[in-house]
Amino acid sequence: RFAYVDGRYPRHADAAVHIEDRGFQFADGVYEVCEVRAGMIVDLTRHLDRLERSLGALAIAMPMSRAALLAVFRELARRNGLRNGWIYLQITRGAAPRDHYFPQTPVNPTVVVTTRAVDPAKVEAAAAAGIGVITVPDDRWGRVDIKTVGLLSNVLAKQAARDAGAREAWFVDRDGFVTEGGSTNAWIVANGALVTRPTSPGILGGITRLVVMDFAAAHGLKVEERAFTVPEALAADEAFVTSATSVVTAVVRIDGRPIGDGKPGPIARDLRAGFHDVAELTPLI
Ligand code: PLP
Repeated sequence: RFAYVDGRYPRHADAAVHIEDRGFQFADGVYEVCEVRAGMIVDLTRHLDRLERSLGALAIAMPMSRAALLAVFRELARRNGLRNGWIYLQITRGAAPRDHYFPQTPVNPTVVVTTRAVDPAKVEAAAAAGIGVITVPDDRWGRVDIKTVGLLSNVLAKQAARDAGAREAWFVDRDGFVTEGGSTNAWIVANGALVTRPTSPGILGGITRLVVMDFAAAHGLKVEERAFTVPEALAADEAFVTSATSVVTAVVRIDGRPIGDGKPGPIARDLRAGFHDVAELTPLI
């Protein structure tokens, strides 16, 4: 297995960046995760659009063209025999002697790509049962719409979920409204409508979230972009999460209490089954 680091394809086990990389010292960098399914990259254009927005927010120049990035994804996938799984891309401001200010002498951004293979049958089997979530106070910084590698609150929240026998943590704001999951956007189905929080600096605008909206529009499902509370979610017909890695996964328990009959609902199932029919698919070869 190989990785990509700044123009090279070292063995994954030997791949490294400098100890004074600003990603390591300040979380001064951004990332993207794209799903790979049956040899296709899912929603590449939207992921690269968001990458450019995140880089722009940090005033880091896009280190290579979109075409060059796609060529790296394809070459790494070829070397790793990737057909199903994920591509992870991380771009940091680069390595420089530690100092909060941007380096005065320009440095090249650090670009790292890794892949992870999954067995689609296993992923489907795991998702079929749905997942449990816990709720935690949203104590993150105010610009989580930028997809930075600063994910400590998310790490702690997701570990708390695992410790509680759940898979995801839903962040809850001071007013009792769910913002999003530790690595997913949060949805409920209530009164026949798909409900999810509108984008703002307080959530990451998920690409999967957008594709679910496309699916809803194509299938005559109503979408309400509004915040919802935990009691509202507990009383909902269904709940689910979306992300490039979980696609659409039903939530069947919140803080140990079942939603509906405690099984994945029909809308979450249909969304998961039909998702890739509306997603953009880019061949890896
Ligand atoms: N919200 C957070 C905090 C995330 O980390 C992610 C994905 O990693 C998402 C939402 C979902 O975004 P996407 O659908 O683009 O994967």
